[in-house]
Amino acid sequence: MKNIRYTLSPLPYEYTALEPVISKQIMELHHDKHHQAYINGANTALELLEKAREDGVETNIKAVMRDLSFHLNGHLLHELFWQNLKPYTENNMPDKELEDMISSNFGSFDAFKKEFTEAGKAVEGSGWVALLKDSQNNLLIMQIQNHNLLGINGFAPILVNDVWEHAYYLDYKNDRGAYFEKWWNIVNWEDVKKRIH
Ligand code: FE
Repeated sequence: MKNIRYTLSPLPYEYTALEPVISKQIMELHHDKHHQAYINGANTALELLEKAREDGVETNIKAVMRDLSFHLNGHLLHELFWQNLKPYTENNMPDKELEDMISSNFGSFDAFKKEFTEAGKAVEGSGWVALLKDSQNNLLIMQIQNHNLLGINGFAPILVNDVWEHAYYLDYKNDRGAYFEKWWNIVNWEDVKKRIH
């Protein structure tokens, strides 16, 4: 029987690459400790399911499913998040084609940015804000609570921002809005575009 296991990929850049927007200290903790913990949690849930299948070991299926959803979504969102970022660029904008596509869905690029930022700032407690697309390239913004609640099935995330406190607190304290303002300068629009086509 095939055993699914996940492993932590190295960051696609140095730990210092996103400074001054995100410090090396946050990147080290966020990637090496937090992301790793979600991978460990997902693998533990998968192991428990395998044991139950193979040896008939009793398992609290409801709790395991809950853990799997939380940790596996946590892992996948972080994997996307690292790819979505790149070193600081002044006046960071998508190319014309992507800008037009975003504008046609949201009215204008600024309207998209505003909605994404407001949605991210308004996440209650821990969570994410995500730009999603369906198979027709319709774009939508949604909030995610924790890693796995409020999802819209059938839409895939293509750009996400982590608004858990571990993502910004050491650099911005409780000012999620200040984090957001700087964060737009490290969005990797080429990566986002790649995910649309
Ligand atoms: Fe995180």
